Amino acid sequence: MIKIQAVTQRFKGANGAAVDAVKDVDLIINKGEIFGIIGRSGAGKSTLVRTLNLLNRPTAGKIIIDGKDLTALNAGQLREARREIGMIFQHFNLLSSRTVYDNIALPLELAGMSKTEINAKVTPLLELVGLTALKDRYPAQISGGQKQRVGIARALANDPKVLLSDEATSALDPETTRSILELLQKINKELGLTIVLITHQMEVIKQICDRMAVMEAGEVIEHGQVIDIFRSP
Ligand code: ADP
Ligand code: ADP
Repeated sequence: MIKIQAVTQRFKGANGAAVDAVKDVDLIINKGEIFGIIGRSGAGKSTLVRTLNLLNRPTAGKIIIDGKDLTALNAGQLREARREIGMIFQHFNLLSSRTVYDNIALPLELAGMSKTEINAKVTPLLELVGLTALKDRYPAQISGGQKQRVGIARALANDPKVLLSDEATSALDPETTRSILELLQKINKELGLTIVLITHQMEVIKQICDRMAVMEAGEVIEHGQVIDIFRSP
């Protein structure tokens, strides 16, 4: 359902020379799978995810989601398409002045929904991520794992087709990481949501991904089933 076709993202480096942060990447991510992208810092993972998230228009190539070529959309169409993609982050990106409930409600407010409609969406999301009892707390009053649960609920508020995770567990301890990954797995199963997860942590990929790609210096150097890649010498 997500087709990344010959995507290159070129930047001008410090000395004026061109740098291909992503170089001629081809990947197909199937509907309903959990796909992992692993690589060292600087490998090009964030840059690739930013093109999927429509924050960057690639220098070359196409991103096709459900038959729609995102690289061909105009500004208005892009805003629409962006609602179909949810994103979670390493540092959660919550608004400190808003409660748990109001952080989750934010994308719905921006979409112009009424208070009643918003409540009908936020209540089951709080339940899904296990934060009903903490809905009136502020981000400073909850743990890192709980903050990421808020981030996940907020990302799901607009019923996206795809959830992008950019190092979402990198700031968490191993036990909290496991519980967040279990939550992502549950969401993948119950909602049938496609998840693309970028990480530098092998354990994360091993725990929940079906298929994966390995990036190095902007290129995909290997891709396939997780079990096959970890089995190879
Ligand atoms: P990763 O997410 O795997 O750590 P990034 O996608 O952040 O890798 O970066 C890949 C390479 O592209 C790095 O060398 C980085 O410095 C470079 N890069 C990323 N964004 C820009 C930019 N806006 N301008 C110039 N270089 C960039
Ligand atoms: P993180 O590693 O937490 O994703 P970075 O500091 O690598 O954060 O990147 C933050 C932002 O800066 C990203 O939007 C990235 O594209 C951009 N960026 C990264 N490397 C460079 C670079 N060498 N020159 C300009 N922009 C960059």
